[in-house]
Amino acid sequence: MALDNCIFCKIISGTIPSSFIAQNDHVIVIKDISPKTPSHFLIIPKKHIADVSCLTADDREYASAILLMAQQLSHSNESLREFRLVSNNGTTMGQSVFHIHFHFLAGAHLSF
Ligand code: 5GP
Ligand code: ZN
Repeated sequence: MALDNCIFCKIISGTIPSSFIAQNDHVIVIKDISPKTPSHFLIIPKKHIADVSCLTADDREYASAILLMAQQLSHSNESLREFRLVSNNGTTMGQSVFHIHFHFLAGAHLSF
């Protein structure tokens, strides 16, 4: 299930120490190492799936857990009430880590 050469699999397994903002059976949340907004979290499923295009019906619990975690984060602090959730799918769209993740962005005025 985990890929040896995947940075997010290593973070999930603890091979690379990292502090989780939140987690449950299906997803973890970490701070992005290079934040684009004052609050920039990554919601990452615990299963290695390359991107949204690779999701299958078997992954529906992971897919729904991402949205529900975004809602949980939003409800956890007034500064996170308004947010943007985005997932880059493919290098052309800016994907650099090929383990599905959603960027949770908050705390800035985004015009695009
Ligand atoms: P992508 O470019 O694939 O949409 O998003 C990958 C994100 O992962 C980037 O925003 C990048 O800053 C972040 N990232 C890459 N490596 C690490 C890491 O080792 N730790 C953390 N916390 N974030 C990382
Ligand atoms: Zn992975």
